[in-house]
Amino acid sequence: MIEIIPVGGYSEIGRNCVIVKYKKESVMLDLGLHMENYVRLTQDEDVPFEVPLSTLVREQAVPDLLSIKEEVKQVKALCISHAHLDHVGAVPFYASKLKMPIHGTEFTIEVLKALLKDKKKKVDSKLVKHKENDRFNVSENIDIQFIHVTHSTPQTVIIVVHTPEGAVVYANDFKLDNAPLLGPKPNYKAMEELKNVKVLILDSLYALDPRKTPSESIAREMIRDVLLGITSKDKNIVVTTFSSHIVRLKTIVEIAETLKRKPVFVGRSISKYLDAAKAAGIIDFEEKAEFVRFGGQIEKYFKSLKKTTDKIFIVTGHQGEPKAILSRLATSNYFPFGYEDLVLFCCKIIPHEENFKNRAVLEGHLKNKKVRIFTDLHVSGHACREDHREFIKIINPKHIIPTHGEIPMLEAQKELAKEIGYKDDKVNILKNFSRLYIK
Ligand SMILES: [Zn+2]
Repeated sequence: MIEIIPVGGYSEIGRNCVIVKYKKESVMLDLGLHMENYVRLTQDEDVPFEVPLSTLVREQAVPDLLSIKEEVKQVKALCISHAHLDHVGAVPFYASKLKMPIHGTEFTIEVLKALLKDKKKKVDSKLVKHKENDRFNVSENIDIQFIHVTHSTPQTVIIVVHTPEGAVVYANDFKLDNAPLLGPKPNYKAMEELKNVKVLILDSLYALDPRKTPSESIAREMIRDVLLGITSKDKNIVVTTFSSHIVRLKTIVEIAETLKRKPVFVGRSISKYLDAAKAAGIIDFEEKAEFVRFGGQIEKYFKSLKKTTDKIFIVTGHQGEPKAILSRLATSNYFPFGYEDLVLFCCKIIPHEENFKNRAVLEGHLKNKKVRIFTDLHVSGHACREDHREFIKIINPKHIIPTHGEIPMLEAQKELAKEIGYKDDKVNILKNFSRLYIK
């Protein structure tokens, strides 16, 4: 019998974590932050501030491993699917309590190392780097298989937990990008070869969206269309996107080269992810770009520049976060924002009241300076309904557990599965700690 223990992220978005158990052996998949709850706890602090683990658990910012200590003792390995904070960001807070090895792809482990360094935490665990399609053994009865898949950060994998009674496929998060700009297409062959899949745990964030998610190559065309199609001579160009979205950063660097402008990465967060990408052998911009890594250097850097219109500044702060670089530049006296300069938002607003408010404030500052604003130059990293349909048919699982969504999204996933032919009791909408036993 295979047992699924949902720990975080079930009927909620964020703090992804699940335990898959066979006999007395188990593996934990992902250990992430609930971003909204985490930011709410930490954003008002001006000084580095250590939130106690018990508070993080109580405020539902991290998965609650404290209430299942005995269960955690049986975990033979923690496997991380990818480098986003809602999948790996809680590891530093549990650092001293995790006694099992932590497995991930090279980029994921490099990002985890940077997060541990940021929080000044050490883990007793061994950090084990794998290639994107590795298969390895973690206990007497459990094998783990990584399958390469596309997403909005590099080296994302679907994790397959192989047991003597069948496999559990964990696809959280992913998209099916058949024209990716960095790395290969999803490894469909490995997906098709999976046999006896008992359970599919499925990313449902965009289950309500009746589309196929467009390829990242479409996002590139959207950004090219603006930057190569619009007069920008003698104008400042500032672009903002997700720090961990390495391929999007690559696109911006390539367009900067076409425009004969020097790309300049500003801010600690972008540098951190690019350093991880370099260490993982994915990409290296050291020769092509400038880096202004630390907050304290920014004012000095801009004051030292004789000219700013021969560069493209790539900065953090796409959600309008008041302390991020873009908001700081928009309100500073050291960045010469002026008439018809260009600001590109290569993102969408993550739908949350705080973000809409912050973005309105930021865009107000930019408009006061007569800057031209370009929004929504973005495609998602998550599969939509028509990708889910393809994917479910490829994997052909006995049971489906929709995850990474609120109830309406999970219900939409259930409707789709029923449309494909699944019976009601084979699609299991779970809450955290509502265990599922699969024979
Ligand atoms: Zn993700």
